[in-house]
Amino acid sequence: MPELSVSELLELDRRHVWHPYGPMPGRAEPLVVESASGVRLRMADSSGELVDGMSSWWSAIHGYNHPVLNEAAREQLGRMSHVMFGGLTHEPAVRLAKLLVDMSPDGLEHVFLADSGSVSVEVAVKMCLQYWRSLGRPAKQRLLTWRGGYHGDTWQPMSVCDPEGGMHELWTGVLQRQVFVGPPPVEYEEEYAEELRSAIARHADELAAVIVEPVVQGAGGMRFHSPAYLRVLREACDAHDVLLVFDEIATGFGRTGALFAADHAAVTPDVMCVGKALTGGYLTMAATLCTSEVADGISRGEVPVLAHGPTFMGNPLAAAVACASIELLLGQDWLAEVKRIEAGLREGLAPARELPGVRDVRVLGAIGVVQLDRPVDMKAATTAAVREGVWLRPFRDLIYTMPPYVTGDADVARVARAVCAAAGEG
Ligand code: PLP
Repeated sequence: MPELSVSELLELDRRHVWHPYGPMPGRAEPLVVESASGVRLRMADSSGELVDGMSSWWSAIHGYNHPVLNEAAREQLGRMSHVMFGGLTHEPAVRLAKLLVDMSPDGLEHVFLADSGSVSVEVAVKMCLQYWRSLGRPAKQRLLTWRGGYHGDTWQPMSVCDPEGGMHELWTGVLQRQVFVGPPPVEYEEEYAEELRSAIARHADELAAVIVEPVVQGAGGMRFHSPAYLRVLREACDAHDVLLVFDEIATGFGRTGALFAADHAAVTPDVMCVGKALTGGYLTMAATLCTSEVADGISRGEVPVLAHGPTFMGNPLAAAVACASIELLLGQDWLAEVKRIEAGLREGLAPARELPGVRDVRVLGAIGVVQLDRPVDMKAATTAAVREGVWLRPFRDLIYTMPPYVTGDADVARVARAVCAAAGEG
């Protein structure tokens, strides 16, 4: 039984707790969630039960309180919840690495099990910089990326987030200066492809890597683009000795209608980051995969180790749940479920096109986005969604949803209705 009443809990929350991108404690106005099961969040207050339209930020693909994931966690808890990874190894981490290598684009062979998406991006960047140092080319230490991107909140990932109007604008003058190219257009445009090629060629001597979110740019603006640009990047990177990093932290594990967004273009990056849905949203774990060429290059250096090793690296509990989550995903027709949700969102979000102030409506895989021509009134939009019995978390000019893959047709329709309501009122 909960020990605090809702009002006591909110009072303590106000006094002591930071929330993501929140103002200082005391100013956030969170709703209180008591438990979650299937696709429903049971709220402690009068909002009752809410269908989760967010999968807890792309992660809870199988829904909450899933018996298979619960059992995997319970079973692993009985063995060990954590043990250091330096000098020791264990079955959950090894099995997870093998599963990831087998399911990811051909050629990615080595897995670093990190503890959050941002850290997996830090590790990816370290791998790339260290690779070129090892090869005697230390000048190659900058990154090229797209505007409109988002790669995490720690220092190095912040440097490749959109510097204008993005989440880290405050730090633009302090962060390492990277090379930015405009965000990729939705459809393939040869002129833009040429711009990419020439930027990579021009900066090749100082570029360690190109890092992008393939096919969907998430928290930087929920933009979609043609997979053909991934092939352009692969060819230009190969031609100019630049590594290619795909940040699949949001797009991985089926969300866009391919297991990884890279698969839409049949491109293998040199380094790939995954996270979020890796553990089905149960525990914090992410991974950075790289090719043997990258790993061997690092090993040939003056300092032949990848100097990174967080305390909770390879956490067995998270790894065991991640194995169960991947097996659950691959053991079902996940693509049919994602396509079903895609069809439901296309139909359900169509009416939003007629709403005043709606600039664009777009759907890809199990992702639906309504973009307004003004900043969203967060409170009004959230209230409208809650009235429809749905949890949404709009930002900037965007009201969007990425529901769990187990969301039934009636609930997908409900989520879409809530997005339309939020767009109308927010
Ligand atoms: N990269 C992408 C594409 C993301 O969407 C996110 C999180 O939203 C991150 C990196 C950072 O991951 P985390 O929040 O787990 O640090």
